[in-house]
Amino acid sequence: MVPFAFVISAVCMLTCSRNAKKLTSWYETARREMVEKQIISRGVSDTSVINAMLKVDRHRFVPREYEKYAYADRPLPIGEAQTISQPYVVALMTQELKLKKRERVLEIGTGSGYQAAILSVLAQDVYTIELIPVLAKSAAERLESLGFENVQVKCGDGFLGWPEAGPFDAIIITCAVPRIPEPLVEQLAEGGRLIMPLGEELYQELVLYRKKGDKLEETSIIPVRFVPMKGKIRE
Ligand code: SAH
Repeated sequence: MVPFAFVISAVCMLTCSRNAKKLTSWYETARREMVEKQIISRGVSDTSVINAMLKVDRHRFVPREYEKYAYADRPLPIGEAQTISQPYVVALMTQELKLKKRERVLEIGTGSGYQAAILSVLAQDVYTIELIPVLAKSAAERLESLGFENVQVKCGDGFLGWPEAGPFDAIIITCAVPRIPEPLVEQLAEGGRLIMPLGEELYQELVLYRKKGDKLEETSIIPVRFVPMKGKIRE
């Protein structure tokens, strides 16, 4: 005779795995809709960026209570009074970096690690710096457990950059800055691109810079709202 407890646990396992499958396909549908309605319809057209946004499970980067909103058209809290950026803004900033899988990229403001994961699909090596130790630790663990092997996370003040790992072909700052952190200009390679939200708490503009010799060519993109950069830039 088959023990009763065995039957119960077999039924539970079957139901749980069916539920997990249903949830996975629900997230896949939500992710496809996010890409169509928020990203492609607003003009992001680089297919490698679109594919990266389709590939990375955004719901794995938000706290459990926000998982069901992971594909919504908005930023979400990630703890420590910080946020994961709106999907469209992640896609737009990434597209502006024009990555071809050969680059060394530096990100300032790791947060959840989501932007770093997107960059990891599109660049050769990603270096990302987070000021808040618990966020740096959880992002590093998350990225490792999800298999993003070409990403290195450091806890520290991103104002100083990561000189030992530079020069970088692209730099992305995902917290608002009142000016370009000077050390980052030095760590940007010739012809390299730097994108960042420039401004104060209430009003910022996404600005793209290209390094040409001693000069930086500047292009304004759209108004945005990011959490402010803390640390040395405020001293
Ligand atoms: N890119 C993140 C979201 C960034 S939110 C993601 O994909 O989830 C901005 C992050 O910048 C926050 O986590 C904040 O702690 C961090 N930050 C603020 N000032 C910083 C500094 N000086 N150096 C590094 N990180 C900083």
